[in-house]
Amino acid sequence: MTENKNPTIATVCSHTSLQIFDGARKEGFKTLGICLGKPPGFYDAFPRAKPDEFFSVSSYQEIIEKTPELIEKDVIIIPHGSFVEYLGASDFARLEVPSFGNKSVLEWESNRTKEREWLTSAGVPVPAEYSSPDDARGPVIVKYHGAKGGRGFFIANNQQEIEDKLDTSEEYVIQEFVLGTRYYLHFFYSPLRIDGYRVGDGTLELLGIDRRIESNIDELYKIGAASGIDPSFVVTGNLPMVLRESLLPKVFELGERVVERSIELFGGMIGPFCLETICTDTLEFKVFEISARIVAGTNLFVSGSPYSDLIEPDLSTGKRIAQEIRLAIEMDRLGDVVS
Ligand code: AMP
Repeated sequence: MTENKNPTIATVCSHTSLQIFDGARKEGFKTLGICLGKPPGFYDAFPRAKPDEFFSVSSYQEIIEKTPELIEKDVIIIPHGSFVEYLGASDFARLEVPSFGNKSVLEWESNRTKEREWLTSAGVPVPAEYSSPDDARGPVIVKYHGAKGGRGFFIANNQQEIEDKLDTSEEYVIQEFVLGTRYYLHFFYSPLRIDGYRVGDGTLELLGIDRRIESNIDELYKIGAASGIDPSFVVTGNLPMVLRESLLPKVFELGERVVERSIELFGGMIGPFCLETICTDTLEFKVFEISARIVAGTNLFVSGSPYSDLIEPDLSTGKRIAQEIRLAIEMDRLGDVVS
């Protein structure tokens, strides 16, 4: 564990790195950008988000090999979606460089079965799953295991369609297709702060909401449902969202249950996380996924969101992470937010 009162905040130069570096700088930290090959030129276009120093590696695996150098530089790594994806969840779990958050969450999040167990045992509504095409009721989305980048899913309206499209040589789940509007809720759980919406020994914040824009599904309606084109769910960007204010109690209840259960299961999910939800026309939320770290939709809110503005002005998720590290150092509790 770092002894220094002023560690360097490091992350991989991708995904949400701009707000992570910008936020760290605003909280008085030095910053280090881990990049593949030469430092990317685009940071020159965003001077406030350019890391103080770059650390080049030839592959993500080299980050593991260079662990002693990173420890020597006294860095705290901020894991983001691309970081964990490119390094691989198991290598990230073994990484000995201090990183923000509780690494035990990986075991529960990177496996669809365990993730579902976490959510259901927390009392959070999730889409129904059917063990075979015969049991399926209504429209379904079939997800192959290991499907990545929004490909490898298909939608079917009935049992016959599932059987026609299904490749049984692969592992899959058949899930209820929940019709409604998608909201990606950006939460932050602090085990340190006690002023706010109390959960466990800490507080739960809602820093923003987005919706992912997915190609081609989001525009498929334009050529008609009967086009015969298979939808894909490739994320190409994000839109800012706000919810009907009367739905906020339900949203906090979802976040609260997931955090409370995480404390029981593996000592708690710390820092930013996102519940990926669909709100139906009966105003019920179903959670179809959880991301246990900063998500790319937070990039919309570099200078705050309609929710984080009500906590303090100019609060991005990147800045909030840096604040938590600063607070932990001041309280001499870095071990509670870094693993
Ligand atoms: P995922 O990889 O689980 O995040 O899902 C990718 C996309 O598929 C989501 O962003 C949704 O657009 C869609 N999706 C996933 N699960 C469901 C579901 N049960 N019902 C409706 N749409 C879903």
